[in-house]
Amino acid sequence: MNYLANRLCGACLPVLMALSPVSYAENGSHGADHHMHIRSQNASDVWAALCESMPQACGPDYAGPPAPLDVDDVIAVLDEAGLEKGVVLSLAYFYGFPELSGSDYDNPDYVREENRFVAEQIARYPDRLAGFFSVNPSQPYALEEVGYWAEAGGLAGLKLHLANSNLDFHDPDQVVQLQKVLALLAEHQLPLVVHLRNRNPEYGAFEANTFINAVAESAPGLTLHIAHMAGWGGYDEGTDAALGAFIQAFEDGRLDRDRVYFDLAAVVMAALPDEALAPLPARMRQIGMDHILFATDWDAMEAPKEYIQALKSRLDLTEAEWEVLLANQAPYLE
Ligand SMILES: [Zn+2]
Repeated sequence: MNYLANRLCGACLPVLMALSPVSYAENGSHGADHHMHIRSQNASDVWAALCESMPQACGPDYAGPPAPLDVDDVIAVLDEAGLEKGVVLSLAYFYGFPELSGSDYDNPDYVREENRFVAEQIARYPDRLAGFFSVNPSQPYALEEVGYWAEAGGLAGLKLHLANSNLDFHDPDQVVQLQKVLALLAEHQLPLVVHLRNRNPEYGAFEANTFINAVAESAPGLTLHIAHMAGWGGYDEGTDAALGAFIQAFEDGRLDRDRVYFDLAAVVMAALPDEALAPLPARMRQIGMDHILFATDWDAMEAPKEYIQALKSRLDLTEAEWEVLLANQAPYLE
């Protein structure tokens, strides 16, 4: 699967909005969608610029960038699914795309502005939404951006997207820079949401272990939320190998399971054959259902109500396991 097609093109689909919202209080759910996106007009514009410089990433059906999206849209789909809370992840890392290097968008002011957009938006629903700022960790301004939000407050933590940021775990300089970002987060007790899977076609245990060891060495107290079950949407051998590396690290004590969560965003895709998903329930049990987070990747993917139905029809879990999983809230939401 193409990492960009999944990240960029899925969101070209029209958004299904709730017609008759059900309040989360009415059906008693306390669950959350732990992976959602909004975007400013700027983010919509940079999307168009990316599709112009990388047409292959946006697919043959690309017909212009998706429209801006705000938190009223987020609340509508949460209500429709009966979910109490949502986690909104900034798209500010778009401006750090290596493919935009040297363009007008290659400017930390845009990064700050997109992160500020998320902070202002989620402040409208403080009881229901948490927001994460984002940045390409390899950009020279990355530490400054983290430091700014650590001081400014208003956002829960940092989101990293290591495919779109093209992080190379085989490059020691990039790993050292990543460690500095992790250490700064830990120092300020800010959690990290990370899309770990990078562009390496051989992605798997090596990348996961390099990341795990970086955390263990530089930021052992960090709370981690690993997006897409350590993959990038869908489920395959590389993602399974990365998950296996985390489970191994829990067992050998390099990583404290109590601080690590995994989200299901975009994992159970309609086009994925049942065989591909077969190993997943056992992996979820090895981690523990109390550390698996419901998440969609909306609006790049389907809305939470539809995705809950898709998960239940595709993953063979017990009623008791679903109950735990769908009620989970990451610690930073409490
Ligand atoms: Zn996402």
